[in-house]
Amino acid sequence: MYSNGTEIQHNDYALVVSFVRGVDSQNHSEISSEVDYRLQRRRVLRDIELGTIDRSEVCDPHPELLRVARKIAPKTSEMCPLCPQNELRLVAYVFGPRLGPSGKCVISDEEMQRIAKRNGHFVSYEIEVCAACGWNHLRRSYPIN
Ligand SMILES: [Zn+2]
Repeated sequence: MYSNGTEIQHNDYALVVSFVRGVDSQNHSEISSEVDYRLQRRRVLRDIELGTIDRSEVCDPHPELLRVARKIAPKTSEMCPLCPQNELRLVAYVFGPRLGPSGKCVISDEEMQRIAKRNGHFVSYEIEVCAACGWNHLRRSYPIN
């Protein structure tokens, strides 16, 4: 299911990102404008409704992603599409020069702005996570500078 087995053993954050559908940490440098993944999100939710994919296949966050979501990620004002009594959290991973091959988890706007001021091309991947049921989905990716 996950192709990135070798990298996973060496780096937890690579693991986190490779566990999120749609994030390809190898190609982040090619992203020059915002990519919105709402269409894929709707498709996944429709497939769950139709029963063509099982909830357990999509509510499968890596423990580290879940930990970040539970402990430090900011809440959004949006509710989880699968358990509407729980608010979604937003977790961002930024890729770029000197952040390592597996990116960096960035929670605060201040830190994001500091990275954006650096030289080089930086791309952020925003992942929505429900800390209750484990729903997680790549929301958008965009260059931050
Ligand atoms: Zn949920």
